[in-house]
Amino acid sequence: MGLRFDIVTIFPGLFAGMFDYGVVKRARDGGLLSIALHDLRTFTGDRHRTVDDRPFGGGEGMVLKPEPLAAAVEHLGVARKPDRNTASETVILLSAQGKKFSQQTARSLAQCERVVLLCGRYEGVDERVTELIADRELSIGDYVLSGGELAAAIVIDATMRLLPGVLGNDASSEYESFGASDALLAARATDELRSTHGAGGLLDYPHYTRPAAFRGLAVPQVLSSGNHDQIRRWRRKQALKKTFANRPDLLASADLTADDRKFLQTLKEQNLETGPGDAQSEDSV
Ligand code: SAM
Repeated sequence: MGLRFDIVTIFPGLFAGMFDYGVVKRARDGGLLSIALHDLRTFTGDRHRTVDDRPFGGGEGMVLKPEPLAAAVEHLGVARKPDRNTASETVILLSAQGKKFSQQTARSLAQCERVVLLCGRYEGVDERVTELIADRELSIGDYVLSGGELAAAIVIDATMRLLPGVLGNDASSEYESFGASDALLAARATDELRSTHGAGGLLDYPHYTRPAAFRGLAVPQVLSSGNHDQIRRWRRKQALKKTFANRPDLLASADLTADDRKFLQTLKEQNLETGPGDAQSEDSV
């Protein structure tokens, strides 16, 4: 049946068309993925279909009440929290206070059969939802959105790409930014040419397509050389350069060879000589 996502939101209309294009649509059409939308107001018990109320203790704004969210999750037939097998079905509250969503999180969600995504609004959600109903809070980054809907869409998009069969070539998701621990483990076991891996915990290398020259900038010559070994090595260096320039924090946990470390050392030395920011435009490496 594939992976099923349920989104609980006060604005189901926000998702109109969002899952009707490209890879997500193909995955849905192929039965690898299904996405159901649930209007939180359906699970209210009063005439006004009230989903929010004023915060205890005073303060700004409104807070989403716990009862409609609890009723929605119970309606979906998901097991209650202490009995829930979170490896196969899990309930997630999108929240700026949550643990940071990452490729690793997406990988673990892709193993599930069912993921319920609760979208907050206003000042947030009554904390008892976190304690009694959701298995975890997830944040998509260190900024505050006006609602959990865009965050839910991001979680779905990043996760469904990792389902077997969704991408034409499953290796695509292994050799891209933040790519695959499994591929790396296999490579490490056989001591394969790790220095030429596309990802390995690094950012992806730069990609080029036609035209060969664009506004005076030519595609790096090595890419037209036909020498696949040289191309792999060049790409590895570019991935190291990009990660060094844009996300040096990733280097601490990246899978690096002795050659990689040597190359990074030269980048650091160049950086010290020329100042930060120049390493990325340096093309001789
Ligand atoms: N008062 C909250 C705080 O400071 O953390 C912010 C509430 S925000 C305006 C409303 C809703 O947007 C949240 O309940 C959550 O569902 C969603 N949201 C906001 N930022 C998010 C983020 N970085 N990741 C995931 N969801 C987020």
